[in-house]
Amino acid sequence: MLRKLLLISAVCLITAPALAQNYAAERRNMVDQQIVKRGIRTTQVVEAMRNVKRHVFVPERYRHLAYSDRPLPIGHQQTISQPYIVALMTDYLNLQPDEKVLEIGTGSGYQAAVLAEIVDQVYTVEIVEALGKRARQTLNEQGYDNVHIRIGDGYQGWQEHAPYDAIIVTASPSDVPPPLKQQLAEGGRMVIPVGGPVFQKLVLLRKTNGKLKQTDVTSVRFVPLVNDKGDRH
Ligand code: SAH
Repeated sequence: MLRKLLLISAVCLITAPALAQNYAAERRNMVDQQIVKRGIRTTQVVEAMRNVKRHVFVPERYRHLAYSDRPLPIGHQQTISQPYIVALMTDYLNLQPDEKVLEIGTGSGYQAAVLAEIVDQVYTVEIVEALGKRARQTLNEQGYDNVHIRIGDGYQGWQEHAPYDAIIVTASPSDVPPPLKQQLAEGGRMVIPVGGPVFQKLVLLRKTNGKLKQTDVTSVRFVPLVNDKGDRH
């Protein structure tokens, strides 16, 4: 009996650090293969992707897939985005360290953590209360005390802390919500997937002299931005 117990604890001692190390190695590999190799070279973005532990934002039963090249379910019919899309959208925001960012669609909190690695303050709005609460807990556990979460309809933005130097929308409306345009600072950037319910184009907007200039970036597939009745905005 004692020998059996000793054997089990010896096996645990060997496998536990090995598993922890696996995530770090998988994350390094993910950044090299999925992010850098595909052309994202901005130091702050690459470093943020290297630092944030994606596996802690993924539900336990998908954790072994945390560093794979795909979105994953996070419950409530929602998904955590593919790592490359997170890095790409972050890169387009062209962030500076002293800036303030608004995210719409907190989901797991992973994108918020990536932003929080780069900028001073992150404000994020989530409409599904259970997701917002879980994200808050994960972000607290990971020490991201510069992320502020509000439960509500992000279509309205978060007026109280506006204007924002950058806005990132990670659920898709059919058009750019006017409150978000208004809450963007002069010189500010916004990335947002707009279009149909299934496929959308990722759009980059920049505010100069009060006017928004739009560039289409690529095709994407995001979950819909919905109102509190579940209808798409
Ligand atoms: N950025 C997230 C993934 C976003 S999934 C991450 O890193 O994990 C899209 C999220 O947008 C979902 O959690 C969904 O509930 C949320 N959402 C949908 N409509 C919304 C709205 N009107 N306001 C705020 N959040 C919304």
